Amino acid sequence: MSEFIPLSVPNFCGNERKYVDEALDGAWVSTSGAKVGEMEECIAKYVGMPEAVCCASGSAGLHLAAMVAGVKPGDEVIVPALTFIASVNPTTRYVGAEPVFFGCDETATMDPDAVEDFCANQCELKADGLYNKRTGAKVSALVLVHVFGNMADMPRFLRIAKDYKLTLIEDAAEALGTKYTEGELAGKFAGTMGDVGVYSFNGNKIITTGSGGVVVSNHPEWAARAKHLSTQAKTDLLQFKHDEVGYNYRMTNIDACLGLAQMELLEGFIAHKTVRYEQYKAALDGVKGFSMLPFREGTRSNHWFYSLLLPDRLERDDVIARLQAQGIQTRPVWALIPEQCDYSRNETHAMDIAREYRRRIVNIPCSTSLTEAQCSRVIKAVLAL
Ligand SMILES: *Cc1c(COP(=O)(O)O)cnc(C)c1O
Repeated sequence: MSEFIPLSVPNFCGNERKYVDEALDGAWVSTSGAKVGEMEECIAKYVGMPEAVCCASGSAGLHLAAMVAGVKPGDEVIVPALTFIASVNPTTRYVGAEPVFFGCDETATMDPDAVEDFCANQCELKADGLYNKRTGAKVSALVLVHVFGNMADMPRFLRIAKDYKLTLIEDAAEALGTKYTEGELAGKFAGTMGDVGVYSFNGNKIITTGSGGVVVSNHPEWAARAKHLSTQAKTDLLQFKHDEVGYNYRMTNIDACLGLAQMELLEGFIAHKTVRYEQYKAALDGVKGFSMLPFREGTRSNHWFYSLLLPDRLERDDVIARLQAQGIQTRPVWALIPEQCDYSRNETHAMDIAREYRRRIVNIPCSTSLTEAQCSRVIKAVLAL
């Protein structure tokens, strides 16, 4: 049996052990400790924001984002149907709001035409915001997801958010390092263009702290409130006084040590992932009916996950099983969110491409440690399907 090639595994080839040891030696293991602040400075500097607020997970970050964005119980929030469920739960049900689902365009990110059509024709714009004509509910926010590290269409969505008074929340959990290189937004990173953005450092993301996340915002007072809510909304450190219902959502010092070491590796990881993506693309794109999902032009994507679009003659789960039998781990994209929990009672729009991608995409090995030879073995196995 040949060597197993996993879909995606973390890579601790830098200073992780050294920094964590230092934290243990100083007994700074919890949410106090200097490294959390250093990690915040490091991330803020990297993505070009004045500050960043580290938290316990991307999901916690998205919950904080929805709260500081002022999403209220009974509001509706525009969200993608093709994403991980943590884009939707914290930004809708955790805060008592309801999702309105939208499908994607060819890039697998939310379809701007469909969203614009909904806002213009199925909603009414009033002085205090946008209202869904069918339900009467206020549509207060728009959650964009930079799926697999691919930039959503930010120039379009920034305009839509402005025209229709929507707060723009960017779920950049998978897209740390993705940025525009051309056009009006050149130099801007995914996560930094809307009102509030969130990154994740879960074990499968491009860098990891085990579990962790970070919130950035273009409104300094929102970032401050996110930090306040993430630290039990404590106003008096000695007397333990609190001015609202807060959460234990702060990142720990140990996780921050991992994060600082991983940040030193991030640009190298992106370079590696880009080379392997190009290797797959050269061998598979347009060959025997396969194609590789492209990353948006005019951007430098972090190339976090690679999506292979299968030809119609192949059945997704059969492909996954046949590759698994050869020691190659792959997986389908997420089951669509409107098919999960009780989200089937919510509105959906423009689902065709999302349904097709759900049926035809297989994510193929993309670890930062994937070698050229392993990549070649995957290519050979795919071409033999
Ligand atoms: C991973 C992920 C999240 C959640 O992040 P966690 O750190 O796992 O809580 C949210 N949205 C997307 C798109 C993700 O991929």
